[in-house]
Parts: sequence; C-alpha cells; structure tokens
Amino acid sequence: MIACHDCDALQEEPRRTPRGASVQCWRCGAVLIHQARKGNEYVFALTVTAIVLFLIGNAFPLVSLEAGGNGVTTTLFGAIIHLWGQDMQLIATLVFVTTLLAPAFDLSAMLYLTLGMLRMDRGRAARLPPGSARVLRAVQAVRPWGMLEVFMLGSLVSIVKLGQLAAVVVGPALVSIGTLTLVLAAANSAFNPRDVWSRLPIGQEDAAPVDGGRSEGVGA
Ligand SMILES: [Zn+2]
Repeated sequence: MIACHDCDALQEEPRRTPRGASVQCWRCGAVLIHQARKGNEYVFALTVTAIVLFLIGNAFPLVSLEAGGNGVTTTLFGAIIHLWGQDMQLIATLVFVTTLLAPAFDLSAMLYLTLGMLRMDRGRAARLPPGSARVLRAVQAVRPWGMLEVFMLGSLVSIVKLGQLAAVVVGPALVSIGTLTLVLAAANSAFNPRDVWSRLPIGQEDAAPVDGGRSEGVGA
C-alpha cells in the first residue's frame, strides 16, 4: 500500500512500473511514482565512469605548488596524511571519511546493486545478490557523508588564494574529482532504490523496507 503525499489517499502500489511510466493518485492525480526512462544500463555506465574518475582522482597529483624554487606535489591521500601530521587529526579524519570512504562505499554499493539488477534483466539471475537490502539501507545512510563537491569548492578557493603566493598547477586528479562530482550526482539521481525494493522477495528476513527510522530516504 502507498499513501498519496498530497491527499493521503491510501492505494495499492503496483509491483512493477514500466520504464518512463508514472503512477498517479486515483483521487487527486498527484504523481506517486515516476519510473525513469533510462534503464539499469545507464546507471551502470555512469557508475563505472565514476569509479574510473575516482581511481584517477586518487592516483594522480591534486595540485603542484612552486615558490622560490621549491616545488611540492600532493595527492588526496598525501594531503590527508599531511593534515594528520600537522596535529589536525579531526580534520584529517573528516576529509578521509567525506572524500574517500563515503564515495568509495557509495560507488561499490551502486556497482553491486546495478550489476545484480542487470543480471536479473538479462535473465542470468533469478534474484538480487545476497544482502542487497542491507547494502541499500547502508548506502542511504552513508550517502549524505559523501561531500566531494564541498571538497572541490574548498580546493578551488584555496587554489585561487594560493595563486598570489606561489605558482599553482592544477593536477589531473582535481579535474577528475571535479568531473566525478557531476557524474556521481547523475548516477545517484538515475538510480532508483524503489526498483531494488520491488525485486526483493517478500517475506524474507531483510526484504521489507520497514526498519525504524532508517527507511525515510528509501522512497525519495
Ligand atoms: Zn492524492
């Protein structure tokens, strides 16, 4: 059952909504569910692109600074280690969680779930891989902690400010992370958690999206 967010009318939710179709409230006509026209292949392609960009963003230098004949080059992880070494453990941990850990988990979970759905679409698997419900719940909880765009904005501001003191060369990693913020946003918005829930077998231990306060984000 699903309740209309506009008029509260209770109605039965269709088990599957075809691509590009919408489910409307029988009483007021509000759109209750909109199934994206693009399929899981599209989400999968965006996720793989994001993973490649994420790896480049971590493997190559972010920026190179040169002042008075001394040059410094740093990677994202190098910057975190440097922060830690300068007695800024709290900030180092925050940067690690928001720019590395959370995006890495988000991307792996998206890959796991979309691969599972693609295998179902192609008839290679009858059900989603084990633990899909738990992975989906975890990703909804972790996603707000991914703050690559905040990091990106901070980096751009400091690069502009440092430009007056030293010669700053933007590295491939920064360009890659900049592109990643856009690709990741596109992947997240194209990914439909409802599609995962609707494929989980009813009555299984981790099938129902009812778990205290944890499920608010699920339908969004
Ligand atoms: Zn309604």
